[in-house]
Amino acid sequence: MPARTHPADVLIIGGGAGGLSCAITLASARGKNWFNDRRIVIVDDGTSDLHKAKLFNAPGVPPGTLGSDLLSGLEDQLQQYDCATMLRGTVQRAERLPGGRFIATLESGEEVIAMSLVIATGYKRWDVEGLDHMPQQHPRGGKPDRIHLPHDGCYRIETDLHVAGLLAGGSSQFAIAAGIGTQVAVELLSEWAGKRTHVHDTP
Ligand SMILES: Cc1cc2nc3c(=O)[nH]c(=O)nc-3n(C[C@H](O)[C@H](O)[C@H](O)COP(=O)(O)OP(=O)(O)OC[C@H]3O[C@@H](n4cnc5c(N)ncnc54)[C@H](O)[C@@H]3O)c2cc1C
Repeated sequence: MPARTHPADVLIIGGGAGGLSCAITLASARGKNWFNDRRIVIVDDGTSDLHKAKLFNAPGVPPGTLGSDLLSGLEDQLQQYDCATMLRGTVQRAERLPGGRFIATLESGEEVIAMSLVIATGYKRWDVEGLDHMPQQHPRGGKPDRIHLPHDGCYRIETDLHVAGLLAGGSSQFAIAAGIGTQVAVELLSEWAGKRTHVHDTP
């Protein structure tokens, strides 16, 4: 049987702090009249640094929370939105197709074809082949092997290609990685809305 192809408006590679925060904020706009029937796909292979953490200083997170519990809470939070799908697996290759869309291939052979791509793979590994951009030394990583992808200051690498989480150059704190993911989502939502926007709920 041929491997499945998933269509998406946004593909996020990496479901750690940055990628999940980006996905949750994107999906939270699903009721806006400009959101239409957009779909978000996130692919993750389970190596988030949060699995090694026990957090006492992450704002809003109960002190002593295991990072793995925080991660599964974020995954549960994403599940409230039908417009988002999480796939387990490793993206081996991502490239731009003629016409501008991206295609990503997982080690399972599954493919995701997306209008926009967000790379949120953390600041320790780089194994996605096919893109024209190579990581450089991280400016705030503290160790020489930490990496980041340069961007325009608003986390855009080129048209429809964004970087989130620590790979975007932030320091290694949960709130910073999550915040960059959220900012990338707000940039995408603003493009879709045709004006600056954000998503707020009230009691
Ligand atoms: C030991 C330790 C303790 C920490 N303690 C704290 C703390 O007390 N307070 C605090 O604020 N922060 C803490 N942190 C930092 C926090 O964990 C990070 O800031 C945060 O996890 C970074 O988020 P990220 O999204 O950039 O990367 P990650 O959370 O590491 O997520 C990257 C994700 O990308 C996925 N991925 C990578 N490549 C691929 C691919 N090709 N295909 C599919 N998926 C891929 C990985 O599986 C991973 O899930 C700690 C970190 C460590 C290591």
